[in-house]
Amino acid sequence: MTPERDGKLMILLVDDAPTNIQMLNETLKDGYHLFFATSGRDALRIASESLPDLILLDVIMPDMDGYEVCRKLKADPILRNVPIIFITAMNQQEDEAIGLELGAVDYITKPFNPTIVRLRIRNQIELKRQRDLLARLSHLDGLTAIPNRRALDEALEREWRRGTRSLKPLSLLMIDIDHFKAYNDNCGHLAGDDCLRSFAQSLKIPLGRAADFVGRYGGEEFLAILPETDEKGAMIVAREIQEGVAELAIPHPASPLGTVVTASIGIATAVASREHEHTWLLQGADSALYQAKQEGRNRIVAAPSPSN
Ligand code: GH3
Ligand code: MG
Ligand code: MG
Repeated sequence: MTPERDGKLMILLVDDAPTNIQMLNETLKDGYHLFFATSGRDALRIASESLPDLILLDVIMPDMDGYEVCRKLKADPILRNVPIIFITAMNQQEDEAIGLELGAVDYITKPFNPTIVRLRIRNQIELKRQRDLLARLSHLDGLTAIPNRRALDEALEREWRRGTRSLKPLSLLMIDIDHFKAYNDNCGHLAGDDCLRSFAQSLKIPLGRAADFVGRYGGEEFLAILPETDEKGAMIVAREIQEGVAELAIPHPASPLGTVVTASIGIATAVASREHEHTWLLQGADSALYQAKQEGRNRIVAAPSPSN
């Protein structure tokens, strides 16, 4: 995404010739927060430390040339989306083709015209802003503004993979509002939507740092992913979630369970292994939730798991 400093976007300037860096600095310093590198190796290091919004990359440099830097950036899962513009004295069409083929978004030849450089960068930055915005929106639930199922599936897959290396337990909480159909039928669909929004917000507080990993899995069902958390820890979080929901005290006149909205929670915990896909843990949480519903709702059930 786009970390901004002082409201300014960040550009990394890479050129082995200090005079070129100076000229680009003069051209761009008013609009952007600038970082500099005078070698390919420095460029890679600074890029991964600062995650710039755009990289302006010289081609001819000793040790590692710009094409090689570009290849390495494109091979890095985090840096591959940072737009790269080559700025170079290599002015043959074949050189430009190589640069664009490697995934650069633009190619500027030296000597450069400062206004054209500024405008081309502005255009690319605007495109990146739009891409980032789309990426964010495609991972957010439209109603509750918390992560959606796509974001959760990606996070779970990532954490499962990480877990196969760390061998630390990973827990899932599948959280489902009780008798929500009756709530809608009784209070109306718009009140149902409001309830979902408040419910979603209430989940964030007990989750603390794990709040990054709570989302709306679908309908009135929410999922929390708790990395490096065993069943005991997951149980504590689940209880806090239930307390939070109780504190919301959303009136549910049609609930057979009482007077306010409640939720049931299914827990599954496992140490990730290559034997299973991440969906296996999801199934565990789902059957624990099913059991919680069967046993009367407004309760927490932990799935029997091979790791305990
Ligand atoms: P249980 O206790 O077994 O979970 O029963 P339930 O009524 O909560 O579950 P059921 O799956 O029968 O009904 C879920 C309801 O959630 C039905 C559907 O209309 C409602 N729902 C799903 N998504 C939304 C939404 O975005 N807004 C509103 N207002 N209601 C929704
Ligand atoms: Mg050079
Ligand atoms: Mg329900």
